[in-house]
Amino acid sequence: MSRPILPGSTVGVLGSGQLGRMFAIAARRMGYRVHTLSPDDDTPTGQVADREVKADYEDLDAVRDFARHVDVVTFEFENVSAAATEAAEQFAPVRPGGNVLHTTQHRLREKTFLKSNGFPHTPFATVRSLEQLKDALVSLGTPAVLKTAGWGYDGKGQAKINTPADAEAAWTKVTGAIGTATEAVLEAWVDFREEVSVVAARGIDGEYADFGVVSNSHRNHILDLTLAPGDVSEKVRRDAREITRALLEKLQVVGVLCVEFFLTRDDRLLVNELAPRPHNSGHFSFDACLTSQFEQQLRAICGLPLGSTELLRPAAMANLLGDLWTDGEPDWEAACRLPGVKLHLYGKAAPRPGRKMGHLTALAATSAEAARDVLAAREALLRRPSAT
Ligand code: AMP
Repeated sequence: MSRPILPGSTVGVLGSGQLGRMFAIAARRMGYRVHTLSPDDDTPTGQVADREVKADYEDLDAVRDFARHVDVVTFEFENVSAAATEAAEQFAPVRPGGNVLHTTQHRLREKTFLKSNGFPHTPFATVRSLEQLKDALVSLGTPAVLKTAGWGYDGKGQAKINTPADAEAAWTKVTGAIGTATEAVLEAWVDFREEVSVVAARGIDGEYADFGVVSNSHRNHILDLTLAPGDVSEKVRRDAREITRALLEKLQVVGVLCVEFFLTRDDRLLVNELAPRPHNSGHFSFDACLTSQFEQQLRAICGLPLGSTELLRPAAMANLLGDLWTDGEPDWEAACRLPGVKLHLYGKAAPRPGRKMGHLTALAATSAEAARDVLAAREALLRRPSAT
């Protein structure tokens, strides 16, 4: 086993958003130094890091130089190319490895991986032309959803197809959405009862820990609310954790990975997506667990023993999107007046609609009560002080 990377060392993060910010906060708390690289400056991660490097991910000289100054490289942005991870690997270990990124950053590769390893997944077909799309609609049926193979997140690069007559419009939308992408995945539409996820970590020596099964609800394809623990049967809980453990093992992940599932009305779990990093649906762990998903990522990539993921109290997390700023600055004081609610803001200057600006977490006796409190707190943000 390789020697652990101990406090006092420097961890490098490719990407500079809120995930990197919360990772950096956890790392600095444990006495590590943090460097971040991304094409921007004054970033959510950069604001709390020791060093912020502004460079394109494809500037391989800059990536090499970045890796030369750190002891281990991780990422919070998974669309980093194989060339960039290989460049970094010349100077520092990259965890999780480039193979994990390669599989999970491309829907087709991810789905092919799930299928060929026997993991339950949404029925899909590979589509490279309008003709292939029409054929695939015959075999998969409607409704269905067309998604770009690469560079899609939070519902971007997707089009729902309700009837075969929608095929052409969907093809034009998806192929035009992100550059000149002409490779897409057609997925059967899943009439799910619920969306659930499991955030888990695997250490260098194969040690495994997860944060349990949480229930997620989305608005406009973006995560809105997470309940921990999720409201699922014991069997679903067991199955979801078993599938997650097997996935991390198969991919030989060193670090954190989130598995998003659809839970069908007849209690079957289908893997929807893998994210090889801490995930929005694991943010509750920052306040509600003995070890957060961010500290766990740090421990895993540094070769330290994993921490306890014990849930201290049931929790709920609600995202704060830029839409909240439509009528001016939200009323932070009102939200802080609710005991048991924690406010997280990511230091982003421009509150655009749909942009993740922060989140609230509430702890309570049950996750349903926590959900009620966190939604009340979010609602309170909209009440202007002058309106009382
Ligand atoms: P994705 O970016 O693929 O995770 O999709 C974002 C959201 O769109 C998911 O969390 C679901 O709410 C919805 N969605 C995506 N694919 C499907 C599908 N095949 N069936 C039903 N809903 C879907």
